[in-house]
Amino acid sequence: MVFRGWLRVSFIEYPGKISTVLFTGGCNFRCPYCHNPELVFLKESLPQIHENIVLDFLQRRKGMIDAVCITGGEPLIHTPDLFPFLEKVKQMGFLIKIDTNGSLFQPFQQISQAGLADLWGIDYKLPFSLYKKVLGEKWHKNCQSVLDQALKNPNQAEIRTTIYPPFHDEKTLFEMAEKCSSANHWYWQNFQPQKTLSEEARTISPYVPSLLNQWRDLINNHIQKDLIVIRPYS
Ligand code: SF4
Repeated sequence: MVFRGWLRVSFIEYPGKISTVLFTGGCNFRCPYCHNPELVFLKESLPQIHENIVLDFLQRRKGMIDAVCITGGEPLIHTPDLFPFLEKVKQMGFLIKIDTNGSLFQPFQQISQAGLADLWGIDYKLPFSLYKKVLGEKWHKNCQSVLDQALKNPNQAEIRTTIYPPFHDEKTLFEMAEKCSSANHWYWQNFQPQKTLSEEARTISPYVPSLLNQWRDLINNHIQKDLIVIRPYS
């Protein structure tokens, strides 16, 4: 397995744990607001980090690092190589978190059933009624299946959404909340236009934080639960 980026130590990526964060290259989506376009398009300048270097690092930091977080890009497009790497990490005793755009149901199931993910970070990009229109017919069913499956184990899933004005408003967010109300939390992150995959997205103004706070409170009150948590942009 080859990674294309590495943050050696993070105190925020795995809740309550010290983690190391590995970035995979390539993605099957082209979200206009994506803030990692160099990973999506696999820029030549990205490093190539072989798993042996990572495993050696982990071996020497047992007891200092608790968890390994895999993010991207879309990690699950690499499942044939990622799976044996995860097995080695698990055998070493580390917790594992994997981020996914939720579009690859079979790999998600394969890794989940093997017990190789202690925590999933799952994108919930749009109301499912809009998935087809914005991301294409192909992904609609898979994304719904991954979310449904993840919500069966809410302690093992962080559901998160980048709030992007062309996709989200009060109505769409209410619609989305109905589908994920059994999650422990639904994390919102406000869209940032400074660095995006699409040029057009850079011309779009994010919602003002007070409006997001207002929608959060309305939805949380409606479903009688502190479901929505707004996270700072990272
Ligand atoms: S935001 Fe995530 S799913 Fe979308 S293009 Fe970027 S890496 Fe892929």
